[in-house]
Amino acid sequence: MVTINLTLNNFSELPALLNVFDRFGNDYEYTTRGIFRRKIPPVCSICSAPMVHNGYNPHTKQGLGEINIGRYKCLNCGSTYEEDHSFWEDMKTLLFDSFNYFFQILRYHNVSYDGISDIMDVIYPRSRNTILRAFYKEMEKETVPSSENIRIVHYDEQHPKEGRCQKYRLTLLDAKTQRTIADELFEDKNPETIKEFLRKNLDASEPVFIVTDFDKRYPDILKEIFGDKLVHQYCLMHLNKLIVSDFPKNTTIEHELLKYRLLNIFYNRENEIKFLEELLSEELNVINNKEKHQEWSKKAKKEFYQYRNELKLERRRKKENLPLNSLEKAKYNFNELMENIRTYDEKVQKRLWMINKHWLNLTLFYYLPGAPATNNPIESYYSKSLKTDNKKQFRTDKGIENQIKLTQMRRLNLLKKPQKSFLELFRLFTPFKF
Ligand SMILES: [Zn+2]
Repeated sequence: MVTINLTLNNFSELPALLNVFDRFGNDYEYTTRGIFRRKIPPVCSICSAPMVHNGYNPHTKQGLGEINIGRYKCLNCGSTYEEDHSFWEDMKTLLFDSFNYFFQILRYHNVSYDGISDIMDVIYPRSRNTILRAFYKEMEKETVPSSENIRIVHYDEQHPKEGRCQKYRLTLLDAKTQRTIADELFEDKNPETIKEFLRKNLDASEPVFIVTDFDKRYPDILKEIFGDKLVHQYCLMHLNKLIVSDFPKNTTIEHELLKYRLLNIFYNRENEIKFLEELLSEELNVINNKEKHQEWSKKAKKEFYQYRNELKLERRRKKENLPLNSLEKAKYNFNELMENIRTYDEKVQKRLWMINKHWLNLTLFYYLPGAPATNNPIESYYSKSLKTDNKKQFRTDKGIENQIKLTQMRRLNLLKKPQKSFLELFRLFTPFKF
């Protein structure tokens, strides 16, 4: 066991020091001046002559402490050697790994980087950027088994009338096979009815990716059944319908343009936007003459609807769906709208805040290759014409990707809990405080 030369100052630290140095034999010493070294210097690695003690190098970690690592010198050839200090590095790693775990837990609970930095101020101050870099680096290292067998399903309801009786049709469709899992009629659509229907037809112990519309009851119902296993995607087509309904049928070119810019968040409507922007610049020529303006408006809208129809027919000929934007593009388009949010009508403002609030649930499909963004298959199933979605490939967004990864890690118990508490870890450093 290492020899520890105590002074009155470090007398009480003996147990902590013994703990730190417990891997070293009694050929080592910790001197009263706080130098860690071999009692008898080693032989020179170059000329094999015995070396002598030759002072020390201080190793400091801001806010934690300092240790002096002994140096040796060969009197024969003059070469120097510093004692191994990996135990000191290991102590730091232990503490910083434990910080990384702490950051992950806080990020899992959606604490912002600024928030974590504020919390760290009372533990061991770390800047927002230091935390962000440490978190990203750590997440890069983490691997989640990709074989997680996730079931991808569509859920929707129809409310048909059977004679005078109002009925409720609940439907589950498998996204991969496009086959119905279940399709049943009920007398009501209480949360309990829906829960029972889902429990009966899906394995709640397996992860599930489920697409639904924006019905406010769904998040709670699904969370209760699937808990952490749930990946809940909101249908983008339903979102588009809501956006269209925010604008009056008989609308101005300006409003039409704004509508298409909202639709352009997730789907590529650049063509329509370009067309409308050109029309809008023409409008300036007639805007001062009321009669001319009205006439122009009518004509302009007719031109636009024709153009829009041509695009639609062309897609149909080519058997193409409306192309989805990449996640980066979607985020960019959305942010651009948010920057001017104050200038829009209240309805549009509300819609944008709603998209903002549900952003994660609107974009989850980007992270699961082949996952659907809409409930179109179930809509077509209801209208009895089955068609399949194109497979989409997307680039990924690190922020949300990490968030999803954390959820998976938590679910799979992969978040590595440290063996020691912060208090215990900090105590390791107390003998070295300066
Ligand atoms: Zn030598």
